[in-house]
Amino acid sequence: MKLSRQSLAAALVGLASAQTNFTGDVLQGAQVVSFLDLADVPSNAVTRYYLRVGELNGGLPLHLPVFVARGPPETLATGKKLSLSAAIHGDELNGVRVVQRVFEGLESVVGTLNGTVIGIPTVNPPGIYLNQRNYFTASSSGFLTNVNRVFPGVAPEDGASGPQLLAYNVWNGLWGNTSQVDVGIDLHTLSTGSNSSLWCYADFRLPYVERLAKLLQPNTIKIDPGEPGSIETTFVSAGIPSITVEMGAAKEWRVSLINRAVDFIGRVMEDLAILPASSASGGAAYVPDLSQTYIITTFEGLASNFGGFVEPLVGVDQHVTAGQQLANIRNVFGDVLQTVTAPVDARIHQIAVDPSTEPGERVVQLAYNSTDPECADGCVL
Ligand SMILES: [Zn+2]
Repeated sequence: MKLSRQSLAAALVGLASAQTNFTGDVLQGAQVVSFLDLADVPSNAVTRYYLRVGELNGGLPLHLPVFVARGPPETLATGKKLSLSAAIHGDELNGVRVVQRVFEGLESVVGTLNGTVIGIPTVNPPGIYLNQRNYFTASSSGFLTNVNRVFPGVAPEDGASGPQLLAYNVWNGLWGNTSQVDVGIDLHTLSTGSNSSLWCYADFRLPYVERLAKLLQPNTIKIDPGEPGSIETTFVSAGIPSITVEMGAAKEWRVSLINRAVDFIGRVMEDLAILPASSASGGAAYVPDLSQTYIITTFEGLASNFGGFVEPLVGVDQHVTAGQQLANIRNVFGDVLQTVTAPVDARIHQIAVDPSTEPGERVVQLAYNSTDPECADGCVL
């Protein structure tokens, strides 16, 4: 649906200048809001809210859990505002624990914060309920929508679907059309069925994004122009530095990656002067340790040509050479139908862990630096 630019602008101006809209409901002890003005949030405290983001088929109200850690009153204006979000894909759950742990940690220091931290531990509760990636809309027997492709959403009067309305209400009702966010970090894992380590997408064309990516000290930094409609790219397009952090496999806690992501957000809060710099640095800017970080422009996916069963022959982050065998695709009797080989020297970025496969499924993804100049800002082949 085409959105009228004027109606969107009018709606956004109206929302950006609005005061908090408390619906009067209280859920699990938290006030329900449809618009949150950070000036109305208690200072020197971590406060929980539920953000009303629409209704499901039949009218069941949908609410997102929200944390806000606000420092002393004046720091709302003088300090930076950091947004954390997780589980926009309902099977990607490591980030949930990251957001929870960051706010647990902020409880004891919130009175000394120089700024504000906003967190949504679960952006897509319907996806989590259905134990899968997308948001289910029920009409016409049902559709599945990737919520990370519909930001900044669509206004209800312009005919928003459920996921578009969710995105609109987060973008405007919590993030104030970016007026309540200076830096955004969106936490993911791979989709169900694959494995990788800690890595991120980063659009180096916007200042501070490269710094954010390096503060993560990940196994891989994917220089990438982004995906329209994703949280990261919608922020970046609005001039708000943002990265997408990817933390291993779906549907299982990876404690070591959760620990690394929590430490990363601590470094970001120090870098933004929301938290004081650790004494070890003597006040100097943190120098990231990138000795284990592979910085690349290009992903290349290698697909199964058959339905059958995939047998990986290599592991995550292993270096491979052109021509090397990476995986066998076997039929149900065990015969090899296809051997997937590396077209170039590269590092294994993702590999299938779900044994079953189907035609066209990417069973291996390579990471490397393409020599094609068109890939300088990032390619996915
Ligand atoms: Zn995801």
